Amino acid sequence: MIKGKLVEESSTRKLCAILSADVKGYSLLMGQDEVATVQSLKSYREVIAAIVLQYRGRVVDSPGDNILAEFASVVDAVECAVAIQREIKVRNAELPEDRRMKFRIGVNLGDVIKEGGRLYGDGVNISARIESLAEAGEICISETVYDHVEKKLPLAYEYLGEHEVKNIEKPIRVYRIIAERKPLGEIEDKTKEKLQLELDELGRKREELDTQKVQTQGKERVLREALDYIDLAGRIVETIGEPMVVLDKDLRVVLAIPSFYKTFQATPEETEGRLIYELGNGQWNIPRLRELLEDIIPKNASFDDFEMEHDFPVIGRKTMRLIAKRIVKHGPTSNLILLVIEDITVQKRAKETLTRAHAELEERVNERTAELVQKTRELSRSNAELEYFAHVASHDLKEPLIVVSGFLNLLSRRYARKLDDKAKTFISQALDASVRMQKLIDDLLSFSRVSTQGKEFEATDCNLVLDQVMKDLQPAIEESRARIFRDPLPSVMADPVQLARVFQNLIGNALKFRTDSPPKVHIGAEGLDHELQIFVKDNGIGIAPENLEKIFSMLERLHSSEKYPGTGMGLAICKKIVERHGGRIWVESEPGKGSTFFFTMQTADK
Ligand code: ADP
Repeated sequence: MIKGKLVEESSTRKLCAILSADVKGYSLLMGQDEVATVQSLKSYREVIAAIVLQYRGRVVDSPGDNILAEFASVVDAVECAVAIQREIKVRNAELPEDRRMKFRIGVNLGDVIKEGGRLYGDGVNISARIESLAEAGEICISETVYDHVEKKLPLAYEYLGEHEVKNIEKPIRVYRIIAERKPLGEIEDKTKEKLQLELDELGRKREELDTQKVQTQGKERVLREALDYIDLAGRIVETIGEPMVVLDKDLRVVLAIPSFYKTFQATPEETEGRLIYELGNGQWNIPRLRELLEDIIPKNASFDDFEMEHDFPVIGRKTMRLIAKRIVKHGPTSNLILLVIEDITVQKRAKETLTRAHAELEERVNERTAELVQKTRELSRSNAELEYFAHVASHDLKEPLIVVSGFLNLLSRRYARKLDDKAKTFISQALDASVRMQKLIDDLLSFSRVSTQGKEFEATDCNLVLDQVMKDLQPAIEESRARIFRDPLPSVMADPVQLARVFQNLIGNALKFRTDSPPKVHIGAEGLDHELQIFVKDNGIGIAPENLEKIFSMLERLHSSEKYPGTGMGLAICKKIVERHGGRIWVESEPGKGSTFFFTMQTADK
């Protein structure tokens, strides 16, 4: 072994593959024919050197029958060894038995020292030792070589066990290449098998590549879609009207959307990366808001109803509603807070105005209702009082009136001869007045009885009611030489006595308020939805338009009782009866031509 110190300056140390070959039985051959042996060794050396060169190796200076070659690649070295043995085998076959030269070859991968074109070192010694283990025409390799070529070369190997090498501490594990010994078919089979394996492997790799390609294409598509979505999201965000900010767990602004900057007239430089409660003039520095925001990430809390009013810089006094919730995203800052700020100033003001208006309205409605209740109460009280008065008056007045008219009658009869004409006229006028008064009291009594003594409604045949009325009015009809036209009428739901009273008053008036020509009265009806509209039409004096409504009031008369006798209660009683039946009454008239009175009644279901 060459000591490092001696060769240090002119030598280089490196790791390389060493092929060592020598001639089996060289001394014997030399003994037989020294010249011929040296000759053939020379030609073999040349052949071997050429093969070494083919495999990118280099023959180094070596003594006697030994040939040393170095290779940068272990595979090249072993393939070269195989090629050498094959070539020598061919050459030997052409030579006579005694001239044949067989080589043993050892290949090792190890450290060598190169000096002056020669190789030394453990690597060289080990290759020489391995070579000595090979038979003539064989190749042995060290384990370091085996490890490199075992999977790469289509050869077979046989493990020869561990072998000591002089001056080397650890024994060397040695393999023999036996591929060359196998029958050709077997080698081919092996090669085929190996090829098949490689083909399979290639197939698998290809499949893997195809899968990867598909996956990559899929990923590309997903990525493209994701980018589209991001682009879309960006455009959507730009259109969002409500200002929004994203905060991190320390309540620092991570980002804000354009509407935030627009609304608060702020810039990203003075916003992003700053704590929310430091923004603007400290508008968000509200202890309660801070508490709520600080709870969002740890407690996964949210809120949507935090209202605040503030004098914001630039935009002035505004009411805002804040909505906040936790958002979770992938990545290092996974927990964030989304804060949406809604300007509700206009809504709030509108709501306040509305609430105020509503309250005012309610107050006025209440006042008005109270007034109405009061008025209704007063009205019903005065109605009740009136009815009571009418009732009492008619009863209580009737009696003294009877007494008065009784005495007047007595006076005119008993003192007829003692009284002069003037006194007789006075007494007769007083008697007329008491009769009128009697009539008035009766009418008042009838009026008050409409509601107090009315009967239940029943299906009432209007024709029968009208027959009776006609009978009662017969003297007046005859006296006025009136012509009555009657249409057949249906049944209605009514109190028959009260319905008769209505017909009597209306037809009576038609006869009474006549012109010089004989009256013509037409009674008919028109059926409406669940209702019957009955009319009484005359050709009388008619009514001026301004009086069309007031004639239905109590005691309203348009003429003196001398010209047209009456109390002014008839139409008031009619109105009260019709209204009790849920109907309406009105008149259409043309002065001088006649009037038509209409009233409605519920039709009786057949
Ligand atoms: P009265 O008949 O006792 O005067 P009413 O209440 O029946 O009282 O009628 C009120 C007033 O309406 C009458 O005084 C009269 O001026 C007017 N009137 C009623 N019916 C007719 C009619 N058919 N034609 C013209 N005027 C009428």
